[in-house]
Amino acid sequence: MKVCVALDLPSMGDNLALIDRLSDFNLWYKVGFRSYVRDGRNLIESIKKRNSSNKIFLDLKLYDIPNTMADTAQEISRLGIDMFNIHASSGYEAMSKVMERVNQSKIKPPIVLAVTALTSFDNTSFMKIYKDDIATKVDFFAQEAYRAKLNGVVCSAYESLSIKSITNNKFLTLAPGIRPNGSDVGDQVRVMTPHEAKDAKVDFAVIGRPIYKSQTPEVVVSKILEEIV
Ligand code: C5P
Repeated sequence: MKVCVALDLPSMGDNLALIDRLSDFNLWYKVGFRSYVRDGRNLIESIKKRNSSNKIFLDLKLYDIPNTMADTAQEISRLGIDMFNIHASSGYEAMSKVMERVNQSKIKPPIVLAVTALTSFDNTSFMKIYKDDIATKVDFFAQEAYRAKLNGVVCSAYESLSIKSITNNKFLTLAPGIRPNGSDVGDQVRVMTPHEAKDAKVDFAVIGRPIYKSQTPEVVVSKILEEIV
């Protein structure tokens, strides 16, 4: 299981300072809306310049008509990032078109994941929008993403095993809401420890606040990595 650190800090300098403190480890970094809207391409280039083996997950969750999504996916592939995501609810056609376009790229194509259900939904609020329960819909979204030849999905760690059983063991799962023992849960509801997530065959554990809010983020990361060996 790989650890993906969420770069959700209030300035580019803060994000880069965190990366510098973690430079001894082999990590993925998640650039989400906040940091990308503020610092854009400059941030992506700075992360890679520090160390070209730093891996970047661009978490922009595309959701639009198929043509716009495919065009945007093409632009994203040119940024030099390693993974990005789109919403499974954009539909099979949009997902397939994104994959077609990404695979036309002359450079190594990034990994593409589909967001199933946002982990901030509880079943009642999810039902109001999707008219189905979360577990059923997550399975459906994962199967559609698999059929559209995506590389995997964003899900809760609790759904990882079921998704792999109905698709393929190699179909990737990326889960936020991972909390080392004893750390603050914050606003995440369904949390797992890194060790439990590894047992649930989660491929990428996204961890933000327990790392970047710590006075000693390198100690937190080191403990997480020991836990998942
Ligand atoms: O600080 P924390 O470990 O909760 O960070 C989790 C990260 O994953 C945040 O950047 C959050 O936006 C993101 N995320 C999430 N739930 C999702 C999708 C993304 O928490 N379903």
